[in-house]
Amino acid sequence: MNEKILICAYCGPTDRKLTREHIIPHFIYDYYEKNNYKISGWNEFAKKTVGGQFTIKDVCERCNHVLLGKLDSHASQFLRQHGILTDVFLQKNIELVYDYDMLLRWILKLSFNAMRIDGLHSHIFSNSINYILHSDPAGMRDFEVVVQLLSPAQHSAEEVIRLQKIGIPLSPCGKTNPLIARVGKVHIAGSKGGFITRTVIIGALVFYLFIYDDSNQTQAFRNQVLKVFINELKTGVILQRDSTSMRLSAGEATWIESYGPALLRAKIHEDSKSTK
Ligand SMILES: [Zn+2]
Repeated sequence: MNEKILICAYCGPTDRKLTREHIIPHFIYDYYEKNNYKISGWNEFAKKTVGGQFTIKDVCERCNHVLLGKLDSHASQFLRQHGILTDVFLQKNIELVYDYDMLLRWILKLSFNAMRIDGLHSHIFSNSINYILHSDPAGMRDFEVVVQLLSPAQHSAEEVIRLQKIGIPLSPCGKTNPLIARVGKVHIAGSKGGFITRTVIIGALVFYLFIYDDSNQTQAFRNQVLKVFINELKTGVILQRDSTSMRLSAGEATWIESYGPALLRAKIHEDSKSTK
């Protein structure tokens, strides 16, 4: 008899089997596989540079497949509906139609999972677990989400050759805006202690999750931080709780400015070493 008590990261002590939960949702990998999307090599590399494995085995079957699975299904549908699951996203304006709770719960789930791998700040999610699992508003902390749409990047002939080599899909006119998925964190210039910001990037869509970890921060201060952040970002829009749609326009920022340069350099360096 196995007397070891299993602890599910979401529902606590359980006699159910613990299963592997994907950090990057499974439907993204399904897309890569079905569409013969070569970027999976790039994604594997991107994961290595942020550290850690990309599944975490501390979620029980029921939470993983029944409760959290619903959030993934919803997100998959939401992303498809906006054409985000594609090789090269070329649109510069979209009308984002969303269900606030479903979207926020999904972003929280991805961030909570990634944070447990990092071993950072996961305690701040403990009050939100019932919100993530059951949409229980009593357990909801103060979160804000800023959404940004990334522009396609235009490349020179020389860049096109390099990008083709490392498997980044290009449009016929030499543009890229690939379906890279990452869950991470971002540093914000000008922010003070207590603000923790996580990012969920799915192709051209970037979600910045602001977590208000300090009850002493006034609403005015929080608003100011968001305002400064959006000014610097130039294109971000706050996801409104009491709305179901908003217009998103891409600015100058492309996937390369947003999170590519360090990775791109490292990847090209790695490839040049491996071909020697
Ligand atoms: Zn569970």
